Amino acid sequence: MKRHRRTGTECASCSRTVREDQKVCVCGVATPYMTHEERVQYEVAQWRAYQERAQSA
Ligand SMILES: [Zn+2]
Repeated sequence: MKRHRRTGTECASCSRTVREDQKVCVCGVATPYMTHEERVQYEVAQWRAYQERAQSA
């Protein structure tokens, strides 16, 4: 059983505590622990998903 370290930060969107190994908050927002490259890829994926929803609606 892993112990959760108390080091972490708050999500900018929902103010939940995010752990150092948590790259995406439970609310779906990228955390500061995501690298720039990962964040770009994540945002592109989010944008594509949004576009698909917009087209099918
Ligand atoms: Zn959040």
